[in-house]
Amino acid sequence: MLHIHFGNNYVVAAAEESVSKEDWLGKTDPSSYSNPEDFLATQLHIKWEVDFENKILSGVLSYEFDIINKEATYLILDTRDIEINKIASNGKGLLYKLGEKNKIFGTPLKIEIPNESRNEKALTIEIEYKTDPNCSALAWMEPHQTSGNKPFLFSQNQPIHGRSMYPCQDTPSVKTAFTAEIIVPKELVALTSAVPSQDAPKEAGDKRVYKFEQKIPIPSYLMCIAVGDLQSKKIGSHSTIYAEQEIIEKAVADFSDVEQLIEIAEKLFGKYEWEVYNLLFLPRAYPMSGMEHPCISFFSQELITGNKGGIDVLAHELAHSWFGNLVTNRDWNHFWMNEGFTRFADRKILGRTYGEEYRQLESIFGWSVLKYEAENLRNEPELAKLVVDKVVDPDRCLNGIPYEKGSAFLYYLEQTVGGASVFEPFLREYIKKYRHQSIESHQFKEELISHFAPEILRNVDWEIWLHSPGMPPVTNNYSRTLLDPITKLVKRWKEWVPEDRTEVPFKKEDLDGLRNIQLKQFVQELFNVGDLGLEKLKKIEEIYGMHERTRNIADIRARWFQLCGKVRWLETVPLMFEYVNAEGRFGALKRVYRELYEWEEIREAAIKNFNENKKYKMFVTVKVISKVLRLEL
Ligand SMILES: [Zn+2]
Repeated sequence: MLHIHFGNNYVVAAAEESVSKEDWLGKTDPSSYSNPEDFLATQLHIKWEVDFENKILSGVLSYEFDIINKEATYLILDTRDIEINKIASNGKGLLYKLGEKNKIFGTPLKIEIPNESRNEKALTIEIEYKTDPNCSALAWMEPHQTSGNKPFLFSQNQPIHGRSMYPCQDTPSVKTAFTAEIIVPKELVALTSAVPSQDAPKEAGDKRVYKFEQKIPIPSYLMCIAVGDLQSKKIGSHSTIYAEQEIIEKAVADFSDVEQLIEIAEKLFGKYEWEVYNLLFLPRAYPMSGMEHPCISFFSQELITGNKGGIDVLAHELAHSWFGNLVTNRDWNHFWMNEGFTRFADRKILGRTYGEEYRQLESIFGWSVLKYEAENLRNEPELAKLVVDKVVDPDRCLNGIPYEKGSAFLYYLEQTVGGASVFEPFLREYIKKYRHQSIESHQFKEELISHFAPEILRNVDWEIWLHSPGMPPVTNNYSRTLLDPITKLVKRWKEWVPEDRTEVPFKKEDLDGLRNIQLKQFVQELFNVGDLGLEKLKKIEEIYGMHERTRNIADIRARWFQLCGKVRWLETVPLMFEYVNAEGRFGALKRVYRELYEWEEIREAAIKNFNENKKYKMFVTVKVISKVLRLEL
């Protein structure tokens, strides 16, 4: 067992491990020990107390389970580094035992269910427990890691870290309604994936108690907690923004379009069901761009750019309110059912907001991401498939394939059946039929085939699209109207011979009038043409000021630094280190660290830099980057 340093604590980190299909952990889900086929959680009441000093979340859970199989003698829940104090049913103590710990999947908790309880209609279970300071779902930020001077707690459960936050049936196939009470230090604000109670939080000594209710059943990966010194501002009939005082006004200015996006999304996908759509901005160590917790999307504060540069991520997390949060992937092997649909849907929302050409260019951008990921995963073909057929570590499914191959597939299907005018009504029906359920790829396929005439779909090669690694069997045709000026400019750069020493045929104004998405694509196209050479890249920086420009466009800065790395531009290395040390999002970090690793002279310094700074990163980020840097965990 190996340990890595994480904050003031040590965590047991997961190693690479793949098991064959027969080795599903449980009968229902490849990566969950739980047995919802016997006992199905339907209702949960949570009481959490947050202890910043000891970095512990202590909880009392009151579960209600439907008894599906009266013969079953054990209820099995997923846990990971959880300390159980007591388990009871209607006040009567129950026998339980924790199984052996698996590095990736955690520890099954087996609770013996007495005969008399199994004959009831429902089973009530109370669990008193504590998380471990090394809990893989929770990040305990020190005040210096936040914008203000108070500590901050946030969670990231997806895909299988919910089990380290609370004992649960940690599978997206189980959805449970819940209520919650969260007790925090008086000066802090608590949030979770539910509608905040209308009553003001109750004061109790130096503590404050917040209450929530989620009437729509949700899976464990969508459960969350965030506690910090938060201000709030209502910005629309559905939405309140939560952020630390230092950034809230900027967040409000950048994300004020949310109500308009909700309106557009409702027209596309049907009614917004979750009552509120609140937004929370997190400290820079937050490992994702965004996360779609119901009622409260989490966002990296990197998305606050001053020019609405984070709107694509906003559209994405909002679109999850239908795809993922209402219609959910049954297990992580079908992750594209969440992310591919949502990426396709967020581009629909953006297309309705900024015009169809915008969606077309976003799709072209996505195709580049798909190529890049397919190339990176060429030695791990299982992960480069839309449907993963083996049992893998679900953390490894967090790559571009489910997003971009999934979205490209849906775009292709939309074209095949006759375009948006017939595909969008189908999507609305699909959501209506499968909302509040968790489904697999074949159910979508059958739904589509039964909706449209089979001959329309006869040329769709489902087998290759769903089960083959790498690039899709069909290349989508996207409109190039917004792309053309970019490719022309990049072509000129490519063909320019600096040695000619004639006047440099480029000027700052080349980029004038380009939209954010086009600037994003400009960097992507520079990336796509391969090695431009150091001299040209320096010239590009000199003329366009890319170091500065890329600051304001979410997700493009990492690509710019990749380019700097590719041409071995030594002077940019300190900037790259500064960037990777401040950035928490593993997607962006992966790109830059991959480039630094490829650069032999810099490799050692990059590894040293990572080792020195990983204590400020969250579990999943450390895990992903360690893999990129070929570090043992
Ligand atoms: Zn997503």
